[in-house]
Order: sequence, then structure tokens, then C-alpha cells
Amino acid sequence: MGGSELIGKEERDAVEKVLMDGVPFRYGFDEKRKGAFKVAEFERRFADYVGSKYALAVSSGSAALRVALAGLDVGKGDEIITQAFTFVATVEAIIACGASPVLCEVDKTLNLDPADLEKKITDKTRVIIPVHMLGAPARLDEIMEIARRHKLIVLEDSCQACGSSYKGRKTGTLGMVGASSFDYVKTITTGEGGMLVTDDEEFYLRASEYHDHGHKHNPDVPRGKDGKSIVGFNYRMNDIQGAIGVVQLDRLDFVLSQQRKNKAAIKDAIGDIGCIEFREITDEEGDGADTLIFFLPDKEKAERVEDSLTKDNIPTKILPSALGWHFAGCWTHISADYSPSLWPKTDKLLNRAIAIPISVKMADADINEIIAAIHKAAKV
Ligand SMILES: *Cc1c(COP(=O)(O)O)cnc(C)c1O
Repeated sequence: MGGSELIGKEERDAVEKVLMDGVPFRYGFDEKRKGAFKVAEFERRFADYVGSKYALAVSSGSAALRVALAGLDVGKGDEIITQAFTFVATVEAIIACGASPVLCEVDKTLNLDPADLEKKITDKTRVIIPVHMLGAPARLDEIMEIARRHKLIVLEDSCQACGSSYKGRKTGTLGMVGASSFDYVKTITTGEGGMLVTDDEEFYLRASEYHDHGHKHNPDVPRGKDGKSIVGFNYRMNDIQGAIGVVQLDRLDFVLSQQRKNKAAIKDAIGDIGCIEFREITDEEGDGADTLIFFLPDKEKAERVEDSLTKDNIPTKILPSALGWHFAGCWTHISADYSPSLWPKTDKLLNRAIAIPISVKMADADINEIIAAIHKAAKV
């Protein structure tokens, strides 16, 4: 569960301070808040942490994707490519901006398959959204090379991979734009919240205006006299969330190191089980490590393993427990054409995968229980 496991006195004090001495709104009221702008502080610190020029805090990870697409000025007539295994929000954001989603297969990384990406590019494609599912970075070298060759923009959906990295660079900073989520189950949390990062000033300004009704944020005039040039909406983060974010960001490296340690302990102890194959990880050191995923030889075996784990009270995460929200093959509410057979490779991989959630706080006894349960399950 990441940062939510660590919510404590620091978060409570930070919230209380905004309510009693500050202002739970991100702009204006300079005197009343005595100069404390917690969202702005969270943005500056987040940008420094990941190594980006700009960060824009927004109300959710979904909002981050929506605001990013508005900032990129894509819409009707444009195609945006992402993957068939993602949280539904990635595709919702594409639909909300009026563009058409084009969905690729995933490979054994359970992230975007570069070979299928190349096949799905048309002259209408504008943006590629690789998603770093369950903490692990996508094949960014290959994806960035394809994007450069076709002159396409890369927006990284890093909502499940806050703090993860790829070959030494934080996920979200390799593409032109990166989106993070701070909902309650993500790596760090502000309850609900999200962040965009970019080095592109023009994009940043447009996204910042869009997320606040088109406000130009001219520091020389009062908010009510501010100019506007685009039609925006309200996707603002408030200062209560910002204050929590500042505290949680300080916890991020601890969250990652604990998860990596706990994941490695389990992975090492089940590596000798013949019938399991681990998910391919592009960068072990950069893995956020909030999930351990392995494949069984087929769907039937995976179902038996899942049953055995459930009987031993070992939960799974997304695979297979919430597949319906993460595989486009299940999304007939989005398109009547969608069915698992459109993405046969993805369908097959997902149906023989088991994902074990990794927590920050895991006692040796918890870890040993999981290891024993997996050994037992593998024999069924
Ligand atoms: C969680 C998530 C989102 C949306 O984030 P929210 O903050 O919950 O709106 C988008 N994409 C992916 C891959 C996610 O996991």
C-alpha cells in the first residue's frame, strides 16, 4: 500500500496547520496564509526529486492525464496509443479529450510491447502513452526510439510508478510529460491527487492554465483581473493535499527501499519453483517493487494457484483479482468491439499471471507465510 501505511503525526500536524494558519486553496489570500503555499512547495520539491524543470499538482492521476492531453492540444481526429493492460483511467482520459484510443498488446514486462506499438502507428497518431504498470518501468529505450523516428510525443503514465526509475532517470521524466497519482493505494498518497512533470515551458504554461479555468496566473494582477486565452476547467489540488504531499514525498525513498527489500526476500525464496516464471523487469534497481508477479504455464494452473493462495489468506493484487478494471478486453462499456480476442497475447499473459502485493511494513513472519503459501500452491 506504500505511503498510506505510514500516515501519522506528521501528516496530521501538516493538515492542522493548513486549516488553522493557512488557506486550503492553492492561489491567493497571501496575507492570511502568511506566505505558506503548500501545493507550490510540493510541486517544487517533487520537480527537484524527479529532476524535472516543472511540476504541476492536480486533483488526481486521472486529472493529470486529462490536463496533459489538454496541454498537448490533442483532441478530435487524433489517435493516442496506449496499452490494453492499464487502469481504465488512461483510456478514459483519451476519450475525455475527444481523441481515439488505440490499444497495444503488452509483452512479458506486462508493459507496452514495442513491436506492436510500431504496427499501430498511423498518420493520425499524435501521442504514445506507455504505462509503467505495478511499479515496473516500460521498455523506454525502444519506445523513445520509435517515438523519435515517427516524431510522436511520449506521455508516461507513471501513476503506479512514483519514484521508480529507468537506467538512472525517474519514470515520468524520459518522455515529454509524466503523470503521477497520489490516490490512497499509490506509492505515496494525498488521499486523492496527481502531478505532471515536464521540462517544456510552453506545455507547462498551457497545462497550468487549463487546470485552473484558463487563468494566466499573472503575478502582477489580482486573481479576479487575470487574463485568459484557453477554455479550461478545474483540476486544482488544494493546500491540505499539498501539505500531506510534502510529508509523504519525504517518505518516498523509505517506501521504495522497504518494498524492494521485502520483494527481494520473497522472490529469492521462490525462485527455485520450477513451474513459475517471473515477470520480466526492464530495470531491477528502478522497480518500485510494490508487486511481485509471476506467470504459471497456463490459465488453469494459475486458477488453482490463486485458489490455494486465497485459502491460505494470501491476497492478490489486480492479477487476477481486479482484472476487469485493468484489461481492455473487459471494457465493452467503452466499445462494443472490445473483447479479449483483440489482444490475444495480453489476454494469455494476464490469465496466467499472479500478482502478490508487497507492503512497506512486512514482518519476517508475514514474508515467510507468503513464501510457504506460494510453495504449497505451486504443487496443486
Ligand atoms: C491510479 C491510476 C490512474 C489514475 O489515478 P487516480 O489518482 O486514481 O485518478 C491512472 N493510470 C493508472 C495506470 C493508474 O494506476
